[in-house]
Amino acid sequence: DGLIWLDGEMVPWREAKTHVLTHTLHYGLGCFEGVRAYSTDQGPAIFRLKEHTDRLFRSAHILNLTMPFTKEQLNEAQCRAVQENDLDEAYIRPMVFLGSEGMGLRADNLKVHVMVAAWSWPSYMSPEAKELGIKVRTSSYTRHHVNITMCKAKANGNYINSMLALNEAISGGAEEALLLDNEGYVAEGSGENIFIYRDGVLHTPELTSCLEGITRQTILDFCKDEGVPVKERRITRDEVYIAEEAFFTGTAAEVLPIRELDGRTIGEGKRGPLTEKLQSKYFDAVKGKLPE
Ligand code: PLP
Repeated sequence: DGLIWLDGEMVPWREAKTHVLTHTLHYGLGCFEGVRAYSTDQGPAIFRLKEHTDRLFRSAHILNLTMPFTKEQLNEAQCRAVQENDLDEAYIRPMVFLGSEGMGLRADNLKVHVMVAAWSWPSYMSPEAKELGIKVRTSSYTRHHVNITMCKAKANGNYINSMLALNEAISGGAEEALLLDNEGYVAEGSGENIFIYRDGVLHTPELTSCLEGITRQTILDFCKDEGVPVKERRITRDEVYIAEEAFFTGTAAEVLPIRELDGRTIGEGKRGPLTEKLQSKYFDAVKGKLPE
């Protein structure tokens, strides 16, 4: 049920289909966003809509895809996907992909399609996880192919490692994976940025091996407001083990405490005070309770 925005039109959910020869299905060249609308006193509000749309256009540009729509049209498409499906809280998935007019890596003369779907997706992590934190495992899969060249694109093909890493973590009894870059430094989670706190300073990996997370930037902005010192720099795995607090950030994960990495308890083994403060500020922000 419901409607999906596909190439400029609202199409019934069941009719929003692509052909099996869809180029992106074969070679993975495409990009997408994960956006969220929260219920606020003024009705549903899409958090950081402009930032997500801007990143989608940057991703397309990196992949050399010419967007057939304007940013304004994409913003409107996301609003329509929420409104016309009568959603109060929603996960919104815009995606840019290549059509089925031809095969081969040359990928010329292919149509660039854009779709926006929205649906209600209950919380990514349980309420307990938000409070108690999650167990994380360092992955044997790295972020190497994303490194330097592609980390600024939220590109479909970048998620193969993320999925393998997450599956590996879950089958190993953890809830999330921590991926390292090709030099062994901490990069990010399967779909989250990471922060650690120690000796009065919050640290997060610089933007060479992780996605330019919009939640990450929101946290950096909060820290500026609150006067919390932050360093963006390379982080080693053992620094996470000895951190006083650690947490993931992401549109889906929101602000998610990490209580354990590779069987080592982090800090007190539960959500720390700074994580709690930033988390509650984040929930206020998404609910429209903080000035933009
Ligand atoms: N890192 C990766 C690999 C992601 O897929 C995401 C999710 O979009 C993030 C980090 C967090 O980014 P954001 O806060 O913009 O959702």
